[in-house]
Amino acid sequence: MSDSVRAVKIRDCVVGGPELVVMAGPCAVESREQILGAAGVVAASGARFLRGGAFKVRTAPTAFQGLGWDGWALLREAADAHGLLTVSEILDEGQIETARRYVDFAQIGSRNMQNVPLLKALGRSRMPVLLKRGFGCTIDEWVHAAEYVLREGNESVVLCERGIRTFETATRFTLDVAAVPIAKARLGLPVVVDPSHAAGKRDWVECLTLSAVAAGADGLLIETHPDPAKALSDGPQAVVLSEFPALMEKTRRVAEAMGRTIPVGARVVAA
Ligand code: PEP
Ligand code: MN
Repeated sequence: MSDSVRAVKIRDCVVGGPELVVMAGPCAVESREQILGAAGVVAASGARFLRGGAFKVRTAPTAFQGLGWDGWALLREAADAHGLLTVSEILDEGQIETARRYVDFAQIGSRNMQNVPLLKALGRSRMPVLLKRGFGCTIDEWVHAAEYVLREGNESVVLCERGIRTFETATRFTLDVAAVPIAKARLGLPVVVDPSHAAGKRDWVECLTLSAVAAGADGLLIETHPDPAKALSDGPQAVVLSEFPALMEKTRRVAEAMGRTIPVGARVVAA
């Protein structure tokens, strides 16, 4: 499947090539200790990107909204310390110029998938864009959202299936596995999967991760936290950080069966 998509290059990383690109970290950056700890473990397990939200779109206005600019600075520091790239959500056009310093891969959140001014602004920015599927949106609507970015001349777009709302309540959302090959076929863009927001509960993250790789996903976006019980957002779905390496070992075996690779061990950090 990997040769049927137009690969997207983000610094030294290619999404949509033979490597299964792993992006992992906490839902939100909470402290230097938390993000540095996460960076060390995910880098040693073969991840290429450190994830972590600094500007969080929460359902309730009283919930933790993220550390803002300080969160991005900590994300960059932790990623640089471990040879990782960064992926983080950008909420509005006004954040783009500052984001360039801290964020390598600009995530458009599920709730913003149809925010046309944001899609166009990130299109003009030429930043690589990770476009999450709106949880109430069809594949067709998701594809059109991607076209808004592409039409501004930005070809560095990667789609992310993260689960959709169905009548099922046992999981937080329902992972639409078929969306992986279907969305790839529609636009020829790489498709990655976020099993964490679909599962909503860490017990189901492994199964969804392995299914996504078997379905031909070009990458994974996984939430992991050193102490999920104390997480300020999305703790129930966070893989316990100490269990992340074992998850990657299993994932690597499925990836290899699919002809994909996940790098082994810590990356060398340039002095
Ligand atoms: C996230 O990645 O933490 C996030 C908020 O995701 P989504 O936009 O898919 O809900
Ligand atoms: Mn989250």
